[in-house]
Amino acid sequence: MLVVSEEACRRLITPALALEAVEAVFAAMARGDARNFPVIREALGHADALYGFKSGFDASAMLLGLKSGGYWPGNVARGLTNHQSVVALFDPDTGQARALVGGNHLTALRTAAASAVSIKHLARPDARVLGIIGAGHQAPFQLRAAAAVRAFERVVAWNRDAAKLDRLEAAARDCGLAFEPADRKRVGAEADVIITITSCFEPLMMRDWVRPGTHIAAMGTDTQGKQELDPELVSAASVFTDEVAQSVAIGEAQHAVKAGLLRADAIVPIGAVINGDHAGRSGADEITLFDGTGVGLQDLAVAGAAVEKAEAAGLAARVAL
Ligand code: NAD
Repeated sequence: MLVVSEEACRRLITPALALEAVEAVFAAMARGDARNFPVIREALGHADALYGFKSGFDASAMLLGLKSGGYWPGNVARGLTNHQSVVALFDPDTGQARALVGGNHLTALRTAAASAVSIKHLARPDARVLGIIGAGHQAPFQLRAAAAVRAFERVVAWNRDAAKLDRLEAAARDCGLAFEPADRKRVGAEADVIITITSCFEPLMMRDWVRPGTHIAAMGTDTQGKQELDPELVSAASVFTDEVAQSVAIGEAQHAVKAGLLRADAIVPIGAVINGDHAGRSGADEITLFDGTGVGLQDLAVAGAAVEKAEAAGLAARVAL
């Protein structure tokens, strides 16, 4: 079995590689070549932590496996990231363990790649202002991945604690983008693309604040009860997602569906747009929304790329089980 460390993943997997892997697996899901298995996610009743498994099989890439890990909110105070995870890959022909891959850096990259895939396929080509709601661990990854798929010139960003916007500002400057802290109404009024990436349980962006033609990537809501958008905003948008069942159960769409404002069968898998089976954005005034819930197959896709790169670079350690 191969072991690929967090450090190797950091060195070898670029945002561009992650985007390519995630785009391919979303396309495979929409073709019916790849499927996610039911997610297990439990509150431990210890350390305030959520722990679980996300798994699946991609027959087109021959990737079988799982990501195990979760969310430990006290970790930042210990100098660790709140998300902790490991990906295990298995040989689909024999079931033998193939690789163990550090999942922390890959999780941030694959999550940012998902919103970037949605921006690539759904945002207006002339999008120039990127809005970001949230400034936690994931936010700078989101900014960097988005900056690679559109010619943004400026970032307007809001965080509950404005003092914590500095890492996001550094990422923007790194990408050659102007950066302005803003309130949420201003983010809605100025941004062509808005990424929400918080752990919030109530709407942060309201229907009336968002302009026609905006693309929103709602990335924070991945659990029942979490929420970042006004359900009226969700119902005013054309809604796309990674996986429809998750979008309805644990994604941003859960609230609009529950309120009877959105039908589950109106939600389109982003893979259908990638495959050319759905036209995507229908016009310059349409509000498009990507409900990024996070699926196990994304983790397997980037872990598979990490194993391939690490083997080629001599950075995968071989251990006997
Ligand atoms: P983090 O703990 O580092 O940051 C959390 C962010 O949420 C901070 O900006 C914080 O200010 C904000 N926030 C928390 N509660 C809020 C509230 N009530 N109102 C407004 N803002 C609030 O977390 P992170 O690693 O950056 O992840 C952000 C969110 O994204 C988490 O909820 C996580 O579960 C989710 N996530 C989703 C996916 C996916 O695939 N969709 C993947 C990874 C993480």
